[in-house]
Parts: sequence; C-alpha cells; structure tokens
Amino acid sequence: MNLILLGPPGAGKGTQAAKIIEKYNIPHISTGDIFRANIKEGTELGKKAQEYMNKGELVPDELVVEIATDRLKADDCKDGFLLDGFPRTVFQAEKLDEFLAGQGKKIDHVLDIDVNKEELMIRLTGRRVCKTCGASFHVVNIPPKVEGICDVCGAPLIQRADDNEETAANRIEVYNNETKPLIDYYEKAGNISHIDGTIGLENVFNAIVDILGE
Ligand code: AMP
Repeated sequence: MNLILLGPPGAGKGTQAAKIIEKYNIPHISTGDIFRANIKEGTELGKKAQEYMNKGELVPDELVVEIATDRLKADDCKDGFLLDGFPRTVFQAEKLDEFLAGQGKKIDHVLDIDVNKEELMIRLTGRRVCKTCGASFHVVNIPPKVEGICDVCGAPLIQRADDNEETAANRIEVYNNETKPLIDYYEKAGNISHIDGTIGLENVFNAIVDILGE
C-alpha cells in the first residue's frame, strides 16, 4: 500500500500517520522529521534546511526530492509506505511519480485531510511536542498530565521553532499557494479521497480505514 497524506500544517497528519502505520504495518516517511533529525545532528543538510524551515518556507525541490527518493529506496518500503509532508509541490509529485514508475510502482491512495485556517492557527500555535519521542500535545485541546512533560516518555515538551504565530501563518499561506494545487493533480490521477479533519481524531481515523479497507 503506497500512500500519501496531504493536508495543511496542523491538519493532524502526524497523528493520523502514527495510527495508519501501526494498523497497516508500513513505514512512516516524513520529510519534515528527516530535516528536524538532521538539524538536531548538525549535518550540512540540516543547516541548509533550517534556513527555510525557520521562515515557514519550502526547502528547495531538488533537495527534498533527493532525500525522499533515497529514503524510498530502502528495503522497508518494498511492500508499501506512508508519505507525510511529501510531495508539497507539483514538481515534487511529478518527480515522485517518475521515481516510482522506474520501480514499477505507483501511488495507490492520496488522503487529503482538510481543516479551516482559524482552526489550524489554534492547533499550530498551541502545539507542544516531545523532544525525545515526538509525541504531540496541545496546551488546551490535548494537555499533558503534567504541564511541559511528555505523558509517553517523561521528557520535556517544546514548541517547534516554526509553530510561532508568524511562521505558522506563513506555512498555511505557502500550503495554499504551493501544495493545494496537488489536489487537482491527484484528482486527475483519480486516486484522492477528502476527509474532514475537524471531526475528532478517532473519527478521522475511522474515515481513513473506510477508504483503505481493513
Ligand atoms: P512538516 O513537519 O511536514 O510540517 O515540515 C516542516 C518544514 O520542513 C516545512 O515547513 C518545510 O520548510 C520543510 N519541508 C518538509 N517537507 C517538505 C517538502 N516536501 N518540500 C519542501 N519543504 C519541506
């Protein structure tokens, strides 16, 4: 099962991704996570990506395509994968299709999770993530049991550098300008489904399972 999760920042892609990979036993490939890991390790790639990420801009296509396709060559992707945050431009989608065609593969489903801008801003600016295990919380909607501490592993929670008001607003705008055209791209390919991302995380997941099948 070769899947793409599409949707604006804050739509809940990361949360749904965790549930999807558990149920369908496929690897989760998040280009944002790959960049953040590189920033943490201080690699050259991390330094390059950080300049763009801090402003809420997209990392240049060539760089992202190389990172993503390299990851897709790994053995654990041979029976399927879940892409989260990639592709984000039509160029990236075309390069992905070319790469997969070269391997005799294709995208089976694109899951488009939609949430309105006001709700996205509330979700992004209130989001807190665990530095260690990546679990995600919200100061109001999903508060941790102890303020500032991860329920899962006990490590401190942080605010992502790009979740401040200004950068979050820019990321939503970049999504509308650069990534939303992908909906048309996959509409033409005929393999996209739209899911209302405001119906609660269990209901969103049930809708996804309805689409993908048990
Ligand atoms: P995410 O964790 O998916 O919200 O990504 C965080 C940031 O990483 C984005 O705002 C971009 O700066 C960068 N990024 C992640 N994936 C991509 C991509 N496919 N194309 C360009 N930039 C990306």
